[in-house]
Amino acid sequence: MDKEVYRIVVPTPFPVGDVNMYIVKGDRLTLIDAGVKTEEAWQAFQRQLHEIGYEPSDIEQVVLTHHHPDHVGLLDYLPDSIPVIAHPKAQPWIRKDPEFLAWHQHYFEQFLIECGMDAALLPQLPKFRRSLRYSCERSLTTAVSEGDRIGGLEDWTVIETPGHAQSHIVLYREKDGLMIGGDHLLAKVSSNPLLEPPEIGKTERPKPLLQYNDSLKKLLRYEIAKIKTGHGEDVTGVPELVEKRLAKQHERAEQVLEMLVHEPLTVFDVCRQLFPTVYEREFLLTMSETIGQLDYLEHIGAVVKRKENDAYLFYEVVGSR
Ligand SMILES: [Zn+2]
Repeated sequence: MDKEVYRIVVPTPFPVGDVNMYIVKGDRLTLIDAGVKTEEAWQAFQRQLHEIGYEPSDIEQVVLTHHHPDHVGLLDYLPDSIPVIAHPKAQPWIRKDPEFLAWHQHYFEQFLIECGMDAALLPQLPKFRRSLRYSCERSLTTAVSEGDRIGGLEDWTVIETPGHAQSHIVLYREKDGLMIGGDHLLAKVSSNPLLEPPEIGKTERPKPLLQYNDSLKKLLRYEIAKIKTGHGEDVTGVPELVEKRLAKQHERAEQVLEMLVHEPLTVFDVCRQLFPTVYEREFLLTMSETIGQLDYLEHIGAVVKRKENDAYLFYEVVGSR
């Protein structure tokens, strides 16, 4: 079934470990996702590409499942002329648009104060910026969204799956149920819905965990035989895994609700209790997870938030369980 889809695995400097890229032999030789910008990844990519009979110059187009550095970085090693296809929300990230990055920084500094964060910890923020050095500086050639087909890959349909990233898409081939799924659903680990700012000038931020849950449930509408993932092995048994991930998330939300029984807490208080040993090291990841659980609890009516001084306090809604 997969004879037209080849997996290439390259190392990353991130805790997630290796990242997968795929070569799809459609009418155009297409690379799906583009690793991370390191010399090691570039060498590993060229070696494996050679093993299947190609050189980087044979690649006719690149499709990105989402904008994270470990999925786009090697674009900087590929010729400028290669068309780059992705969701429009990937554009400010892969371009490293200075206006967008400044907006991002500004938005989060304000937002973290509302989360009850100690201003002394604000210097942690640049850490996330540092991961951008493994990203690329390229521009989209073609923006794709829900239901689109990509030239040269006529069998495949684009499905939007926001949550892990606002720009996240998957590709689905109806005739045999094969999906190229990026980081939407991974075999061994749950995918992190990461916090991103609203678009420039907008005030309402996306709620990534709620989006993610919707995007997970969206998979149940398709007959998926197998998902080729961004990290680790292929996923089969999609409905069971979706149920498992949703149940696990609900369990974690209950754990958060338990913390609010005795006293109201800020996002940052909850984050420290949930991740006492890692929150400083993995700040963006742990804050994203915490905010996600609180968004979820608010959505199901189990908590309400009130602004006191500069920060929001979350209260349990008595009788909500
Ligand atoms: Zn990712």
